[in-house]
Amino acid sequence: STETEYFVIDDLLVESVFQPRREFSHKGSYGKATIIAGSYGKTGAAVLATQAALKTGAGLTFTLAPRCGYEILQTSCPEAMFIKGGEDYIVSFEVAKDTICGIGPGLGTHQDTQKEFLQFLKNYSKPLVLDADALNMISKDEKNLRLIPEKSIITPHPKEFVRLFGKTDNSFDRLELARKKSEELQIYMVLKDHHTQIITPQGKVFYNITGNAGLAKGGSGDVLTGILTSLLAQGYSEEHACILGVWLHGKAADCASEKYSKESMLPTDVINELGSVFIEMN
Ligand code: AMP
Ligand code: MG
Repeated sequence: STETEYFVIDDLLVESVFQPRREFSHKGSYGKATIIAGSYGKTGAAVLATQAALKTGAGLTFTLAPRCGYEILQTSCPEAMFIKGGEDYIVSFEVAKDTICGIGPGLGTHQDTQKEFLQFLKNYSKPLVLDADALNMISKDEKNLRLIPEKSIITPHPKEFVRLFGKTDNSFDRLELARKKSEELQIYMVLKDHHTQIITPQGKVFYNITGNAGLAKGGSGDVLTGILTSLLAQGYSEEHACILGVWLHGKAADCASEKYSKESMLPTDVINELGSVFIEMN
C-alpha cells in the first residue's frame, strides 16, 4: 500500500480549491443536489441539510423526504423542491440521473427504510455523500460496506466510525484503520471530530483546523452533509469538496461563535454565517 501524506487545510489550500461564481452562468451551471433525509420527528435534520445545500450554492436543490415533512420543508426551505419518499419514513430512494445525493440525516433505521436503501445502493454507481443513519444501516452487516459506490464521501462521527469499522485503541490506530478502509473501498472518509480528518483513497490525510466546540450539538453534522452534497453537485472533485466543505463548515462555525458564543450558537446560525465566509473568499 501507498505511503501516507499529511496536509493541513490552510488558507492557501482553500484559495486554490475555491471556484468563484462565473458571471456568464445560470442555475444549470451549478448542478442539482438532492438531500435524502428525515423521518417523523426528525424533519429538522432534513431542513438543516437542505438549507446548507442551498446556502452553499447548488443550482437546484431537492429534498427527498417522507410526506410528514412536506409542509415543514416547503415552508422553511421554499427554494428547494420536495420529492415524496414515503409517509412517516422513507421507502423510495428514486432520484433523477443528473443529481448528486446526500443521504442520511434523520433518516431513521426502520427495517423498510433499510431494505429499500440497501436495494438502492445495489443499483447505484455514482458517488454519494453518506452520513448518520445511512451509515448506521450499512453498519449492520460488514458485507454492506462493498455496496458503497466508489468515490463516495462518508462522514462518520467517532461512534459511527466504530459501528462501521470496529473499535480501535487510540486515534492513531483509528486513522490507520480509516486509511486502510478508504483504500480498500476506494472511498473518501471525513472523520468528524474536534480536528476533522479527511482520508482519500490514495492515502492522503488532510487535517482541518477551523471549527469549535459550539458545533458539539445535534444538527451540526447535518449541515456538513448539505454543504458537501452542494459542492459535489457544483462540480468540485470529491477531494476538493471534502477540503472546502469541512473548512467552510468550521469557518462558518467560528463566525457564529464570535457573534453568539459557543454555548448559544446553533447549526442554523452556522448555515447563516456561510454567506460571510463566501464574501471573504470572493
Ligand atoms: P454530528 O455528530 O454528526 O452532528 O457532527 C458534528 C459536527 O460538529 C462535525 O462536523 C464535528 O467535526 C463538529 N464538532 C463537534 N464537536 C466539535 C468540537 N468540540 N470542536 C470542533 N468541531 C466539533
Ligand atoms: Mg450526525
